Amino acid sequence: MNMQALAPRLYAPLLAAHFAVLATEPPRVLSWSYALVLAVLGLTLILGIRRIGLSLPHNRPLWSLLLAALFSQGAAFVLLFVDSLANPQGTLVAFDPTFYFCMSSLLLTLAATYDPVPPVYRWTGLLDAALAVFIALMFYGLVRALVAGAEAQPENARAIMWMFDGMALFVAVFASLRLLGARRRDERRFFVVLAAFAWIELFAPAAHNRFVLSSESYLPEFLLSVPFALLGLLLSRRRGDWLRGYRPSTRARYLAGSISPFVLSLALCLLAFGYLHRIPAVAVGALVAGIASYALRAALMLGKRLSSEDELKRLHHGLRRAALRDDLTQLLNRRGFYRALDREWERARRVHVPLAVAMLDIDHFKAFNDTYGHLAGDQCLASVAQALAGEAASMPGVTVARAGGEEFVVLISGYLPHAAGALLEQLRERVEALRILHVRGVRGFVTVSAGIASSELARYGDAEAMLSAADAALYTAKRAGRNQVAWAEVPGTEALS
Ligand code: GH3
Ligand code: MG
Ligand code: MG
Repeated sequence: MNMQALAPRLYAPLLAAHFAVLATEPPRVLSWSYALVLAVLGLTLILGIRRIGLSLPHNRPLWSLLLAALFSQGAAFVLLFVDSLANPQGTLVAFDPTFYFCMSSLLLTLAATYDPVPPVYRWTGLLDAALAVFIALMFYGLVRALVAGAEAQPENARAIMWMFDGMALFVAVFASLRLLGARRRDERRFFVVLAAFAWIELFAPAAHNRFVLSSESYLPEFLLSVPFALLGLLLSRRRGDWLRGYRPSTRARYLAGSISPFVLSLALCLLAFGYLHRIPAVAVGALVAGIASYALRAALMLGKRLSSEDELKRLHHGLRRAALRDDLTQLLNRRGFYRALDREWERARRVHVPLAVAMLDIDHFKAFNDTYGHLAGDQCLASVAQALAGEAASMPGVTVARAGGEEFVVLISGYLPHAAGALLEQLRERVEALRILHVRGVRGFVTVSAGIASSELARYGDAEAMLSAADAALYTAKRAGRNQVAWAEVPGTEALS
């Protein structure tokens, strides 16, 4: 049986032995107790090392921080064990172990701030880490000062307890918020473990510390091994897809993403109050650091936001262009044309500008494709489009678009009918002048036919109706022998030509 499967089964006998030792109180009960806590912790460390091996590479720093925190707590318990050998009754507040407990809190805080996704916000990540270190140093300094006075002032022991509870609560809330915003499954797995461990680490030691102060029994010591055993059981779970159906809302992600600066700066400001009467300079420094770091982070984020807004604008512009342009010919596509048509139609109605629209179609294009192949067909389409666009560029108020297939539409704004007709004739001639060989074409070359309708000649109900009239005229041109322009029928009038 491998270690992964065996380890969880070892917890029950170890916890039972721990409980039995505490209940029966043999000589050197505290040393036995610490030794058993270390055994439970050792087992959990083995499972933690295995977990690092199994995790995704970019998440390894997260698991490593948790493991480092466990090692730190291990060092604290080794010191407590050594102390208990010399002092079987135990010391009320041993100083050195508190250092390692502070260290562990720092490492867990770093785990809660660390974002494994490659550095979108590299500098803010570093700032968070620097703040976490600053917080740990201030916390440590305060605990150290309280421990030094603990012999003379027993209430210091209580103050230290409250400080550790506060720190544990800080880590637990922080880890839970990160869990709330974790989107990837493997990351969620880590934050489930971290949050669960942080909450157990809040309640078990807090209860232990209070019982120790008020009870004669050694049984509260049992609370020291429980968190490690529970953590070990979580680590040994082969499939950690907890909260499988959970998808953080956008709000939860934003909250989790923006919580670090708030929590860290707040912690720093709160700690500053502990120094107000001891070392005012440190208190002021911490307050300044707490506020300045918040402002600095906001500035960094704002810079990042502004540059990503620019990027978004560029993207938006590109997408808009892509959505309204045709790939092959680089002309406006059907959608782009309809937008322009609607705009011009409205303008024509408002300021009474004449508006004409023409449908233009390459003659015998199917035969062209059949003779020269589809690729040559594409090239022909692109050449015709380029010629039309080039010609239209010198005609103000004229827009050419690709309606689809080998059909084009021309929007002619501000030209009276005879001028619009002449202009379209010019476009037709321009295509003919390209002299693109087409043996089955009208004259051995590629040509176009066109149908045109103008708002000056008939009252069309809407732009669509005018376009249909132009389309019908196109077929008139086709029937009449192609390579020509035909005017839309105007009811009650003779058609112009
Ligand atoms: P008409 O003179 O009556 O317009 O005859 P036509 O052959 O041009 O018209 P028809 O509608 O029968 O055929 C149009 C052809 O245009 C058929 C299709 O293969 C070709 N076509 C449409 N879009 C493209 C394209 O993007 N590339 C190429 N190469 N051919 C296209
Ligand atoms: Mg056609
Ligand atoms: Mg055609």
